[in-house]
Amino acid sequence: MTTIAFIGLGNMGGPMAANLVKAGHSVTGFDLSPASCDQARSDGASIAASTVDAVRDADIVVTMLPAGRHVLSVWADILPSVKEGALLIDCSTVDVESARKAHVMAREQGRDLASLDAPVSGGVGGAKGATLTFMTGGTKEAFDRAEPILSSMGKKVVHCGEAGAGQAAKICNNMILGISMIGVAEAFVLAEKLGLSHQALFDVASTSSGQCWSLTTYCPVPGPVPASPANNGYKPGFAAALMLKDLKLAQEAALASGASTPLGAEAAQLYALFNNAGHEGDDFSGIINFIRGQRD
Ligand code: NAD
Repeated sequence: MTTIAFIGLGNMGGPMAANLVKAGHSVTGFDLSPASCDQARSDGASIAASTVDAVRDADIVVTMLPAGRHVLSVWADILPSVKEGALLIDCSTVDVESARKAHVMAREQGRDLASLDAPVSGGVGGAKGATLTFMTGGTKEAFDRAEPILSSMGKKVVHCGEAGAGQAAKICNNMILGISMIGVAEAFVLAEKLGLSHQALFDVASTSSGQCWSLTTYCPVPGPVPASPANNGYKPGFAAALMLKDLKLAQEAALASGASTPLGAEAAQLYALFNNAGHEGDDFSGIINFIRGQRD
């Protein structure tokens, strides 16, 4: 049993903390939302009065917060109070620069603290079912300590490299996803204009060189893949607002590093328009309706 503090008990953090309790760990949580705290308490976690109180006795501290500024602010508050030698794991999706800064803040405490950036893919379903994929950045020693804990919340834990490498992997993967979903959606819209049925395009492309996850697992038209959100009124799934967040993070990273990502930039623009048209809460695959010209 490990003593774990868990800060940020929202849609993702709540079920992740519950899975740590199920795995037999002692979990003390904190969230600004009383409703999230109540849910975590009923899932078997203790609830502390503040972030600082939550971390005092913890060997491992997990944060699952909305964005980089929340992570840096919470880490600045808790770092002076964490135990000597504690391991801090940030599972939020944040910009690479903030992720690296969080590692530096931990190191600058000078109390033998270890840190890992460990964003996830798999969404709320993966958080509930403990089937998340973790992509991690930090030292091999920090990774080895974190791996058994992360394995209680996910099915795959990958060490991507040094500080920030987990966030880099996350935004690169999601940039591929955003671009490929738009590509698949455009192909279906063109097929419609050409009188080709959805099923015919699916049958060909899914076994040809157009094959990709956006087509065969998450098909943006109803029918060919019964479990895809297209069959369920484009309820998320993975909300368009989160796709836009990740595409913006990829563009920030491209600008900062000097990488050329013209299709990533175009995808970010299209998802911004889609979000602004009132579709933030729709599944990101609903962009096909926007591309088709149904803008409301
Ligand atoms: P959420 O908004 O449901 O949860 C975030 C929680 O953090 C909220 O409960 C909020 O009250 C809490 N919080 C904010 N500031 C705090 C503070 N100072 N102290 C304590 N608690 C604080 O968001 P989520 O869907 O759980 O996402 C969390 C992270 O995971 C985000 O970075 C998101 O991009 C990433 N992510 C989400 C999904 C998804 O499908 N929801 C998938 C992959 C990654």
